[in-house]
Amino acid sequence: MSIAYRIIIILVVGLLAFSACAPFEVEKIKPDRISVSVSIPPQAYFVARVAGDLVETNILVGAGDDPHSYEPTPRQMQSISNSQVYFAIGVEFEDAWLPRFASANPGMVIVDTSAGIQHISANDAHDTEGEGEDPHIWLSPKLVKLQAQTIADTLTALDPDNQSTYQAGLDSFLDDIGRMELEIYEQFTSLSFRKFITIHPSLGYFAMDYGLEMIPVEMEGQEPGAEELSKIITLAKTNGISVIFSQKAFSSKNAQVLADEISARVVVLDPLAYEWINNMQTIAREVATSMIRN
Ligand code: ZN
Repeated sequence: MSIAYRIIIILVVGLLAFSACAPFEVEKIKPDRISVSVSIPPQAYFVARVAGDLVETNILVGAGDDPHSYEPTPRQMQSISNSQVYFAIGVEFEDAWLPRFASANPGMVIVDTSAGIQHISANDAHDTEGEGEDPHIWLSPKLVKLQAQTIADTLTALDPDNQSTYQAGLDSFLDDIGRMELEIYEQFTSLSFRKFITIHPSLGYFAMDYGLEMIPVEMEGQEPGAEELSKIITLAKTNGISVIFSQKAFSSKNAQVLADEISARVVVLDPLAYEWINNMQTIAREVATSMIRN
């Protein structure tokens, strides 16, 4: 996301905060339900946990779409023009499409829910700034807590009459995330082998949260070269890695070739599942299971 865009978002959130404190009524939204648009299904789950049925959520990237190459349909553009808020998260298509959404619906508040989050590089787990940021911040329970807070703050600013509902929704969601984090932590704590191979590098933040090492096969959407592939094969063989993680909506041909080479099985994960808590539990269980050595 460009700097100019971030500044606009900060200004808009600032204005919202100001109008929420204004002593006389400006024009506050009093619809039956606030209409929200989000980029991916897990964000709709976050919004639902915070707001319950006070909002109606339009999801752009549906099941089976690839958020790295997605383009909105005309019908989705229509939903955008009826939305009061857009929660951006930093997936690739937003760079090209957020400015168009803003001109299609100038009244819509665009909020960057990755605000305040330190991104890691798409290449590896080292801290970085600027280009090549890893966008998969919704697959870290720790970072989802920050995103949920931003969602609650925004909805409260737009609709202060329902502040207590948003606060209660946020509190309950944060409690559930906290419990889940402990469960996940316990699954990994006794494991001495902590590496896993994944075709698409979607679990970089997750790996960082739990002290794991993600070995991606793709780098920034590119297929690995022969040399990199042979390094991965050697690493897998010497470490007895018997699982290759792949994901829905991505070709698993690569995964199968690699899996055949090292006699591994392919486990397909779904980073975009709506039922986020269940999905994170599944991801954690599969990754932990793959690390168990007899
Ligand atoms: Zn991805």
